[in-house]
Amino acid sequence: MKAKLLDGRKLAGMMQNELRSRIFEMREKFGQAPGLVTILVGQNPASVSYVSLKSRTARNLCFFEKQENIDESIETEDLVELIERYNADSRFHGILVQLPLPPHIDEQKIINAIHPDKDVDGFHPINLGRMVLGGEAVRFLPCTPAGIVQLLVRNGVKTDGANVLVVGRSNIVGKPLAIMLGQKGEGGNATVTLAHTGTKNLPQLCKQADILVAAAGKPGLIQADWILPGATVIDVGVNRVGINAESGKPVLRGDVDFEAACEVAGRITPVPGGVGPMTITMLMHNTVRSAELFLKK
Ligand code: NAP
Repeated sequence: MKAKLLDGRKLAGMMQNELRSRIFEMREKFGQAPGLVTILVGQNPASVSYVSLKSRTARNLCFFEKQENIDESIETEDLVELIERYNADSRFHGILVQLPLPPHIDEQKIINAIHPDKDVDGFHPINLGRMVLGGEAVRFLPCTPAGIVQLLVRNGVKTDGANVLVVGRSNIVGKPLAIMLGQKGEGGNATVTLAHTGTKNLPQLCKQADILVAAAGKPGLIQADWILPGATVIDVGVNRVGINAESGKPVLRGDVDFEAACEVAGRITPVPGGVGPMTITMLMHNTVRSAELFLKK
């Protein structure tokens, strides 16, 4: 294998250790730990596994932590009411509603109901607006794109002047990442192209990218011969392509043809163990930041 692995688990561990000392200091100074409530509606297997990982990480970091498991029949208004209770509860500095929600629920109304000061996912329009403004205006960056930027910066991947292609324009990954990488400053200053299903000549565009980010949710979409030799490849895709007969666990595959891509890329993230652990760590980071801002008021 030629490409160097960008190890998200290792970096997540390091960043969580950095958080531990901030949490320790907070407990010493204010007698309070960061508080996070995770709200899971229904039993979508991927969502169940994400929420339990988030709760477990929060507990490991000695957060004040609660998981709400809500029946999938809940109506939008009742979910809004639940969120409002947590908005008013000063023990919780972060509220996370696991997406996607069942189709009968108005997802945007739920995101809007979370107080922007507790929106540790960074999806509230106010926090998205702050992210677009950049610099001092930023409060909470969306976790997956923020984790990708950390993976790049802390592994010495130069974004300044780099040609970046982001494949996928979702509100939670592709769109915010394209904006963040295009901002002035460290971890930004890149020339960014945002691709989607309307994009023509995707293979040719990929071939021009110094940094290629695949966030399309299509297993193996990015072929090895689309990759610029030596490029950095970030695979965001988490696709369940089957069940392991022995372990009974889902078999996960990214959006990149990993084995073949390793022969061409300079650096690459594995799936699992690349972007996923960074997403969870940035959620913890945002919750610690929220608690610090609240307690210092
Ligand atoms: P999404 O809402 O599923 O949207 C997919 C995006 O990819 C859309 O913008 C779509 O274009 C584009 N797309 C799909 N097929 C394409 C193709 N053949 N060529 C070019 N563009 C294409 O995206 P998401 O929620 O960001 O999720 C993407 C993947 O990332 C999923 O596998 C998800 O599980 C994973 N994910 C991982 C993490 C993590 O922490 N590791 C976090 C979030 C998501 P249109 O807009 O034109 O439809």
